[in-house]
Amino acid sequence: MSKYFSIRYKNLHPYTPGEQPQDQQYIKLNTNESPFPPAPAVLDAAAEAAENLQLYSDPRSLELRRAIAKEHGLSALNVAVGNGSDELLNFAFIAFGNKKAAFTYPSVTYGFYSVCLNVNTVARRSIPLKEDFTIDPAEYLDLGTNIVLANPNAPTGLLLSVEQIEQIVAANPDHVVIVDEAYIAFGGETCIPLVKKYPNLLVLRTFSKSHSLAGARLGYAIGQKDLIADVNKVKNCINPYNINRMTAACGIAALEAEDYYQQNIQTIMDNRNFTALALRRRGFEVLPSAANFLLVKPDFCTGEALYEGLKDRGILVRHWKTSRIAGWCRITIGTIEQMTKLIGAIDQMMAEKTEG
Ligand code: PMP
Repeated sequence: MSKYFSIRYKNLHPYTPGEQPQDQQYIKLNTNESPFPPAPAVLDAAAEAAENLQLYSDPRSLELRRAIAKEHGLSALNVAVGNGSDELLNFAFIAFGNKKAAFTYPSVTYGFYSVCLNVNTVARRSIPLKEDFTIDPAEYLDLGTNIVLANPNAPTGLLLSVEQIEQIVAANPDHVVIVDEAYIAFGGETCIPLVKKYPNLLVLRTFSKSHSLAGARLGYAIGQKDLIADVNKVKNCINPYNINRMTAACGIAALEAEDYYQQNIQTIMDNRNFTALALRRRGFEVLPSAANFLLVKPDFCTGEALYEGLKDRGILVRHWKTSRIAGWCRITIGTIEQMTKLIGAIDQMMAEKTEG
């Protein structure tokens, strides 16, 4: 830390992203990216947009917002776009939180929530998950704080129903409820239709996972127009041109290639079933996931040993040392070839353990 670093930030704890090795020698099953490339039309759209990079992008991202709105039968006024949904989380925490207006979230969830609330000096509290890692909606009624929930939750992959989400949103009318649907495409039902009924609901989505655009950085928020205007007001104070020309073009083209992405999503769901079955047969505990990852607990070694053993064999998965999930690893679902290699590596580790 330099002597110039602001004193108010001296206790910052930055988010730790999953490893991003810059060589290609690992099978990357650690950051929930899609194993499939963007649709060919998306690459063409990015190349075409690159021809005008001397010009700023549209600060209102109108064409992109209109395309997203159309997808959900809404208007562009119901849509804000961000440099990844992470940026929208930041804008929303600034817009709706402060030292008194806290945000509540589950004790095991996406780690960026607490980090980003902290840097914005927004008060925060967490509610422990149930013993079986589920969220009990009854514990989120009339909380007196804003709420942020990932649905499905990360890294558990466990899903709340639209009815359960509605129960929470309806029971907190004086506070904003952010529902982060980063992984909803992999088997969940979206709560976007509830936006028409509830002025306090903000739904976040991303193109990073189901639409193979993690590197383009594109997310969006859906809500009633006043809530969206608040998010955009903050956006215009922090990063008015937050969506670059290539990313905007990619997003529009991706929405037009929905068949391609739906096929990939189906393949990932099939590969998830294959992997869950193979791991359960090998004595693993596997949470029922509605996302493109599985949270799994081996019985032949610790979570950390599984992470290390797989890394030694060229496969990266995610492990957290925090106590509640220390025995577990999160494995992103890749292609069937990648998942077969994963199972092969686990068989090797189990055989070595038996021999040893
Ligand atoms: N929400 C959740 C639950 C996530 O796991 C992630 C990915 N790390 C994000 C939001 C952010 O995604 P992005 O910024 O790539 O849209």
